[in-house]
Amino acid sequence: MTATYPHLLAPLDLGFTTLRNRVIMGSMHTGLEDRFYHYGKLAAFYRERARGGVGLIVTGGISPNREGWLLPFGGTLNFAGDVLNHRRVTSAVHEEGGKILMQILHAGRYGYQPLVVSASAKKSPISPFKPRALSEAGIERTIAAYARCARLARQAGYDGIEVMGSEGYLLNQFLCARTNLRTDRWGGSIENRMRLSVDIVKRIRAKVGDDFIIMYRHSLLDLVDGGNTWDDVVQVAQALERAGVNILNTGFGWHEARVPTIVTSVPRGAFASVAGRLRREVTIPVVASNRINMPADAEDILARGDADMVSMARPFLADPQFVAKAAAGRADEINTCIGCNQACLDHTFANQRASCLVNPRACHETELVYAKARVSKKVAVVGAGPAGLSAATVAAECGHQVTLFDSFDAIGGQFRIAMQIPGKEEFSETIRYFGRKLALTGVKVVLGQRVTRAALLAGGFDDVIVATGIKVRMPPIDGIDHPKVLSYIDVLQRKAPVGKRVAIIGAGGIGFDVGEYLLHDPAHALPVPLAEWAREWGVDLAATTAGGLVAPAAPAPVRQIVLMQRKTSKLGAGLGKTSGWVHRATLARNGVQMLAGVQYDRIDDFGLHITVAGEQRLIECDNIVICAGQDSLTELMPAEGESGGPAFHKIGGAALAAELDAKRAIKEGAELAARL
Ligand code: FAD
Ligand code: NAP
Ligand code: SF4
Repeated sequence: MTATYPHLLAPLDLGFTTLRNRVIMGSMHTGLEDRFYHYGKLAAFYRERARGGVGLIVTGGISPNREGWLLPFGGTLNFAGDVLNHRRVTSAVHEEGGKILMQILHAGRYGYQPLVVSASAKKSPISPFKPRALSEAGIERTIAAYARCARLARQAGYDGIEVMGSEGYLLNQFLCARTNLRTDRWGGSIENRMRLSVDIVKRIRAKVGDDFIIMYRHSLLDLVDGGNTWDDVVQVAQALERAGVNILNTGFGWHEARVPTIVTSVPRGAFASVAGRLRREVTIPVVASNRINMPADAEDILARGDADMVSMARPFLADPQFVAKAAAGRADEINTCIGCNQACLDHTFANQRASCLVNPRACHETELVYAKARVSKKVAVVGAGPAGLSAATVAAECGHQVTLFDSFDAIGGQFRIAMQIPGKEEFSETIRYFGRKLALTGVKVVLGQRVTRAALLAGGFDDVIVATGIKVRMPPIDGIDHPKVLSYIDVLQRKAPVGKRVAIIGAGGIGFDVGEYLLHDPAHALPVPLAEWAREWGVDLAATTAGGLVAPAAPAPVRQIVLMQRKTSKLGAGLGKTSGWVHRATLARNGVQMLAGVQYDRIDDFGLHITVAGEQRLIECDNIVICAGQDSLTELMPAEGESGGPAFHKIGGAALAAELDAKRAIKEGAELAARL
């Protein structure tokens, strides 16, 4: 059973307790931990992950006091009455043979609430609230709050706690000169700056005894100006080990850093070698983290000695059975996290419950249930894009007889196009997953056949799910038929040749993606190799500079691009909260000119004529690429008033093209199929 991933699946003996394997489900804020009435749902969420075989789970961040709240009234453990809620979680995990740590998170100046405190009264760029500098007495109260929180966690049945010391939260704010301007014994030298972290660990250890896991998440590369040097990082790690930490987890980049650390375009396992450097400096187990999403990559990291354990967070939203599937040699059945952040972090930052684009059941385990249907129906699903794939596989899992049709000769729909965008290569994993799932659930797949309404009516189906997606919108601009004009499908799917000077009409997700695609030199390998990515973003993986930052050195752009929209708002404002800035920064760095408030006048041999701010301009270009949205493709739906025959349903792009994304498409498919 452990033959395929011998390092990953090996137990880890901590002396007083043994973890069943080397896989940690890293801390994620789900939104369920903030309200006591959601703890039943939270317990169900963790139960499924523990049943799936993960070695150690870490909860979302729980504050030790009100000052440490990330959001107003966030999850807090500071009095005995809270213990009972947490017991529901720990019991569920223990019943499945798992172990669980509670993360203690003090947000410091990242708190989105008025009670915020920090090392110094210096506002962060990502919260509107200016923090109050903690007094000596305030620091003492904070240490006591951490110790009390850990003691209560022990009472609640947790196997230990994780102290959150990275990503720019309170302890990081004390650790770095960037935010610690103090001149007392808590500021200045690294010995003073780390005093808070070390004292917290010592005080917790004294309160909880030796047979309770203390994991500390340590920031190895801060990726901000005023971050720590490698010598500082090592000194802190060694002091934490002496203070009583059992496991050192690792973190990379503060939340305010302008370097992406977890989005899909970050190469897999990008930071593992830095964890490896730290592992040589301490004797306790070190954990690798960030952008590790498949067992083979995790196994490689452990096999080459970069870490003792691997932490994956989002991959457990995508697939609770990750470890069980790996252990059974069924890694090809894993529903892989594609690093999109669309349903997890983007939700968290919008104060919504987290879920997962590829697994809408995540954090909704008690609400979206794929139960066996009482009557097995004959179901046709037309369209093998994300919506159709989701509907077909869930319907088959629920016991229906499903036939899935697509006019193309491969499954995936627009996701097959999306995966060609540099940095979106991971999207192919979703297509691989669904392909395997179709086979496992026994869906009959008919490809290369455009389905007609007559065929559907003659097919004897009980239900027809129309998941035919969209047709590209070509705006009625004078000259739209000019040979210079291409649609994004011409460029991405039909591979039409594109000149060196390009105007892109439409600056939604696809306009930005087409920009990235056209900026990429086809001679360069994809996915972008790690060293090249690090140069482009100015990351010093050798950790020779403070904070791990160097001057970025991106290759020269291969095209001149102008990206346009009619709205007067900032371009890309509608992109994902946690990933949009990466796309905007990439295009800006490559000299893409962004124009808002554009009126498209006409297209001719000279290029695109526009009016901006009342002034007429000519964009001289070789090609104009249209990324102006889409309209639903609904030709298979019954006409108004038509009755009889199978029940017709529409989902995904076919239901509504506006603001469509794969998150909605997959969710609609699963929800409809579960209630057929
Ligand atoms: P589609 O994916 O369009 O699938 C419809 C399928 O139906 C097609 O395969 C088509 O061949 C088939 N079909 C149509 N008519 C018939 C017929 N009569 N008979 C048989 N078959 C038929 N979304 C995100 O969430 N995140 C992203 O980062 C993202 N990036 C994108 C990047 C690009 C470049 C593109 C093009 C899209 C991107 N999307 C992204 C959007 C996402 O791919 C779509 O929202 C999603 O694919 C819609 O799913 P769907 O199943 O409704 O339709
Ligand atoms: P979109 O986000 O709706 O953007 C369409 C763009 O076209 C807008 O910039 C719009 O801006 C412009 N437009 C609309 N009608 C127009 C017209 N008649 N003439 C000229 N311009 C027009 O759609 P999309 O970019 O095609 O993306 C489709 C879906 O895929 C999106 O909903 C998105 O969620 C998803 N997607 C997501 C990602 C991601 O990274 N999360 C990436 C790609 C795609 P103006 O109206 O201001 O001109
Ligand atoms: Fe991963 Fe995207 Fe799911 Fe988040 S929403 S867990 S990033 S696949």
